[in-house]
Amino acid sequence: MPPVFRFAPSPNGYLHLGHARSALLNFDLARRAGGRFLLRLEDIDRARCKPEFKAAILEDLLWLGIAWDGPVRRQSDHFADYRAAADRLAAQGLLYPSFESRAEIARLVAAEQARGRWPHDPDGVPLYPGVAKALSPQAVALLQRAGAPTAWRLDMTRACDRCGELDWTERGAGPGGDTGRVPTRPQAWGDVILARKEIPTSYHLSVVVDDALQGVTDIVRGQDLFWSTSVHRLLQVLLGLPRPNYRHHRLVRDPGGAKLAKSNGATSLRELRKRGLNPAEIRRMLELSPFD
Ligand code: GLU
Repeated sequence: MPPVFRFAPSPNGYLHLGHARSALLNFDLARRAGGRFLLRLEDIDRARCKPEFKAAILEDLLWLGIAWDGPVRRQSDHFADYRAAADRLAAQGLLYPSFESRAEIARLVAAEQARGRWPHDPDGVPLYPGVAKALSPQAVALLQRAGAPTAWRLDMTRACDRCGELDWTERGAGPGGDTGRVPTRPQAWGDVILARKEIPTSYHLSVVVDDALQGVTDIVRGQDLFWSTSVHRLLQVLLGLPRPNYRHHRLVRDPGGAKLAKSNGATSLRELRKRGLNPAEIRRMLELSPFD
């Protein structure tokens, strides 16, 4: 079976050089292997994702010389798929609702930190400090009736107990150089949110569901998502989905060494195009080789 690659940006800003590295790597690898290259817009956050950014992504990719196979998948058209996956996890007793607002969580974290160190996830975000898992069914019903903000969390301990030790196959490298068979560490993320009342899914859930639905065999993306793969492998096993290969590539950094942000206009592809650069020059700037 020919391999299937994908580029899956979130349309909440203009593409920058970092996206160009991901998109071109995926496209080149697919072409060299005689495989398919898919485009998916990860637009579950309807407040932040704007139609003008969606249109700009398509335009910028075409300018780079990238053409995708088949229709573009827009995640906001597929909430029912993600809900079905969340229901399957719930049926296994692996999800529980939590009701704290972001401000309440920040207060709980501050209280924990005042008592001593509190763990942070690989993105630097403090782990969930709440006790919602221990709420009685009556308390849950009461909070739901009162319209409290609801986030559905994965019971990480139970999920890990269910799956045992897992690993993934890394053909690139992580920020610390991990490569080959990488053991997962999903516990490092705590009880991650998989769905919210206002957005009935999350990045982790929809990315895993879509990669399986679209038959993606090879996931090529930036090193900033390296440790997210721990959560993705766990969800794949819990949902009985296939095991893709992974290749995480190094990030494009600004001269100060910081990761590029969508808000940083200077490295947006539109800005570089406006300044007269052409796609060949973009490839040279990125020093692109398929083993990046
Ligand atoms: N939508 C994610 C982003 O823009 C990428 C998802 C992925 O490649 O797994 O950062």
